[in-house]
Amino acid sequence: MRVGVRTDIGKVRRSNQDNYCVTRRLFAVADGMGGSRAGEVASALAVESLESHVFDDSSPERSLLEAINEANRRIYELAAQRPEYAGMGTTLTAAFFADDTVFIGHVGDSRAYLVTNGSITQVTNDHSIVGELFRAGSLTEEEAMNHPQRNLLIQALGTDERVSAEVHRARVSIDDAFVLCTDGLSSLVSSEEIRDTLMVNDDPQKAADDLTEMALERGGHDNITVVVIYALPGAPALEPAVEDAIPLEESVSFESRLCGAAVD
Ligand code: MN
Repeated sequence: MRVGVRTDIGKVRRSNQDNYCVTRRLFAVADGMGGSRAGEVASALAVESLESHVFDDSSPERSLLEAINEANRRIYELAAQRPEYAGMGTTLTAAFFADDTVFIGHVGDSRAYLVTNGSITQVTNDHSIVGELFRAGSLTEEEAMNHPQRNLLIQALGTDERVSAEVHRARVSIDDAFVLCTDGLSSLVSSEEIRDTLMVNDDPQKAADDLTEMALERGGHDNITVVVIYALPGAPALEPAVEDAIPLEESVSFESRLCGAAVD
């Protein structure tokens, strides 16, 4: 696997409350929220907690859920102890690779995309009001990107005692590429543009830089964080191998489900 990563404060915000982690098999982005420094603390704690979790290879999906629940608990408890952190929270989108399978877990509106065979799929469902309207077909992607209420989350990590993380699983193929990003990117750069950027870049770091620059050129109204993962040495394949390739819905086999918080 080859990986590129970039985080940027953007052009408007006075601090960068995004965090990320890039390890051999575990990748994540987190977008903190809360007054003063609370958002930074929440996203840093989410990432730290995830990184320190010991993953069990015999049950990677359960491990990932436990890691997310543990991060939720740690943020929630710290927020309860320290008045300056009251109400802090964060998004968390994490990808854990186990053999030929990737497990993607998330809470909030930071996204994971899969680019394969010249197509891009948004793996995660934004846990936001606007995300629900988009899934219901009430908004186009462009309308969702520009919606004034796009920041209203349905759930975040650390704001409640329990959280319902969503976990997706997919078999990883040689040409696959994955993108994890915060809304500072996805609210300014469309999924099609993300796909195009990956397909012309052999180097995942260059892809991460190009995507970030695109968001900055369009105003950079929020912190921007992007992790680009190429499963194998080359860039994602430019075109489907055959002209009349199977429609995406049929070719990508995601198993998705909502998981209730596993209470310790
Ligand atoms: Mn953000």
